[in-house]
Amino acid sequence: MTRDRPCHRCGTDNVLAVLRRPGSWTNASGNRVPVVQEIHLCARCDADDPLAGPVVGHLDADGARQPGNAAQLAGDLLRWIDHARPARPDENALKAEVDAWYRGEL
Ligand SMILES: [Zn+2]
Repeated sequence: MTRDRPCHRCGTDNVLAVLRRPGSWTNASGNRVPVVQEIHLCARCDADDPLAGPVVGHLDADGARQPGNAAQLAGDLLRWIDHARPARPDENALKAEVDAWYRGEL
């Protein structure tokens, strides 16, 4: 369990694990900057996800492994790791907040 950081999607402390992946980001000068991307495995947000959900099912509320098939857990973990991508911001929601801020509504 990673209660020291809330889920970046729902804001709760239901994060069971954090996947850290090397990545890069292009800054305003056009230079690639190395970054570490974090992907949260959240009991609340990911339970119904076809890739993350099976991993959630193997863990208890503290992120410890439930008794069961370790080989199945390993396979589900590898499938999630291979396909997990950082969440992208909702550009429409961001634009709406910026517009609201300029109108003085925030
Ligand atoms: Zn969440």
